[in-house]
Amino acid sequence: MHAIDYLRADTLETAIETLRDDPSSAPLGGGTTLIDLMKCGVAQPSRLIDLTHLPGLNTIVASESALLVGALARMSDVQAHPEVQQRWPAVSEALLRGASQQLRNMATIGGNLMQRTRCGYFRDPTFSECNKRSPGSGCAALNGENRGHAVLGTSDHCIATYPGDLAVALVAFDAMVHILGPDGPRTVPIDDFFLLPGDTPEQEHPLSQGELITAVEVPASPAARRSRYLKVRDRVSYEFAAASAAVGLEIADDGTVADARVALGGVAAKPWREPAVEAALLGRPAVPELFREAAALAASGARPWQHNAYKVELARRTAARALMTLPL
Ligand SMILES: Cc1cc2nc3c(=O)[nH]c(=O)nc-3n(C[C@H](O)[C@H](O)[C@H](O)COP(=O)(O)OP(=O)(O)OC[C@H]3O[C@@H](n4cnc5c(N)ncnc54)[C@H](O)[C@@H]3O)c2cc1C
Ligand code: SF4
Repeated sequence: MHAIDYLRADTLETAIETLRDDPSSAPLGGGTTLIDLMKCGVAQPSRLIDLTHLPGLNTIVASESALLVGALARMSDVQAHPEVQQRWPAVSEALLRGASQQLRNMATIGGNLMQRTRCGYFRDPTFSECNKRSPGSGCAALNGENRGHAVLGTSDHCIATYPGDLAVALVAFDAMVHILGPDGPRTVPIDDFFLLPGDTPEQEHPLSQGELITAVEVPASPAARRSRYLKVRDRVSYEFAAASAAVGLEIADDGTVADARVALGGVAAKPWREPAVEAALLGRPAVPELFREAAALAASGARPWQHNAYKVELARRTAARALMTLPL
């Protein structure tokens, strides 16, 4: 039996100091990922620092210029917030399409960003080869069951997919992650918050020991207001994405595209922004033919594996369909 200590943190300072001084401790949000990983033997913290009673970190504030969501806000509360639904619909839809209502009622925004891959070899320690779980051991997925794995941003050391939905919408709309740690506060653009596997797939985020996410900030924009999140998966609910797309457009008075945002989920090692698709949309009339033509540029440089070549075409069609379903 593995003994676990539990500390309910009353202040952020206590949480940060305890985490800094004890590298075997881990912060606890809603527990919907961490407790799962502890049960299957992938995570083995000796002490859990419960963040959920910290004051002031569950607020949702929509101002003129941005949406500011505290790290302890629950997925369901952010999803159902009227201003989020109206001004950042892709964010609300991405949250609604994730997990189940019960999980969303528990799960926090900070914990959501920190969720780990669903690669079956990673989550089952009876498989010895997994560079992410056990650096240097190899990657069982390379020649194994890789239907759900990534075709973009992978390395020879890891081909795991980033599984989350919310982060795809956040990447499309240039969100910032607010962090507090032993050395004070800092802010990281969301695109830099997720690291590619490279030679070190075990390093997924730039957080150092003791650093916590305190909030996520999403700028307001016309493209965020006219946005969508489309998720394609094996079953219609309670399933991770085979491919997804967060899209947003600003349309000028003459009907051309003034701003375009496109990011993909379910197909890459991290939430995947598509600048080539966005550039192809800019300045041209917003019509279905353009959406299909631009989306065909998505997933360029994809590196499919034995069982997941379907993801390349699926990603393109998902992006095109998401654009076509925007209110124009
Ligand atoms: C059956 C199932 C289906 C799911 N389906 C989906 C899905 O379709 N789409 C999707 O997006 N997600 C899905 N999820 C994942 C779910 O969204 C996450 O489990 C949840 O968002 C994690 O939030 P939490 O607060 O419970 O995190 P926890 O489990 O408490 O923590 C997760 C990780 O984050 C760390 N952490 C927590 N808070 C902070 C903080 N403030 N700063 C730094 N580190 C922190 C913890 O130490 C831990 O490592 C699913 C989960 C389950 C169990
Ligand atoms: S894809 Fe990554 S997480 Fe999965 S077995 Fe390979 S190294 Fe591990």
